[in-house]
Amino acid sequence: MSARTALHHVPRGHLTADVPTVAPAVRSGVQHQPGLEPRPGPLAPSAESAQSLRAHRDAFRRGHFLRVVNWHNTPASGADSLRRQLAHYARVFAPVGLADLDRFYETGSWHLPRPGFMPVFYEGYRNSAEVAGPILDELGLIGWFFVCTGFLDTPPPQQEAFARAHYIGLVQEDLDRDRPIAMTWDQVRDLSTRHVVTPHTASHESVAWIRSDEDIEREIIEPKRRMDAVTGQDSACFAWLAGTHYGHDPVNDDAVRRAGYRYVFSNTMIQRLPRPVDGSAR
Ligand SMILES: [Zn+2]
Repeated sequence: MSARTALHHVPRGHLTADVPTVAPAVRSGVQHQPGLEPRPGPLAPSAESAQSLRAHRDAFRRGHFLRVVNWHNTPASGADSLRRQLAHYARVFAPVGLADLDRFYETGSWHLPRPGFMPVFYEGYRNSAEVAGPILDELGLIGWFFVCTGFLDTPPPQQEAFARAHYIGLVQEDLDRDRPIAMTWDQVRDLSTRHVVTPHTASHESVAWIRSDEDIEREIIEPKRRMDAVTGQDSACFAWLAGTHYGHDPVNDDAVRRAGYRYVFSNTMIQRLPRPVDGSAR
């Protein structure tokens, strides 16, 4: 089947956490974190090609889509609202684990009576582990956590500065406490026993900024190595800052494949990647 699955993209800013707004299902070029641009040209392609639009339309027509809702910060002050949102989704949809996603791609059809729902939490915030995680557990949902491994590796006193330098949005209530902003690796390990935790580069990098072998090692390969060592699993998914899709940059596409990722999550697609060697689907 096509290695594309169209998503319901929710173009949320990083600074708020509740009341998601569902955007048109086919959309790209959504800036991940506007207004803090340290370098030029970091964003996903700004225009959909006719080919991409056709692929999205065809995927919807064939029923090849999943409901994906993105969150960034989930502060404690928004916990009740987040619980209400997720409880609604839990009543209507079925949780989606990695095995479900694999099966969907392998068979081309959804195997559960209820449609699937994937709540995705970006950046690796402590509030994702401590606020969203327990709510997901309570409701029996499976969360998909894309974490910037370099954010987690930054000592807590430097995490605010790291976030401000790397497009990672902050909420005031978490800055007021004398606690880390990023989740810990122990929290990653714990979440990975019930949810999907996987890299979102090391330093919240755009595909446009990865130019050298050192960049590839630091931002694509090492984050998976680090994640897998902690979870004892095989991290399957990768996402760029700005939600750039696979197929945009041949050198970095190849690096993502070689690193061993099997899926790229972009703004409007989950793309299953071809094998690095023989080009067949894996
Ligand atoms: Zn991000």
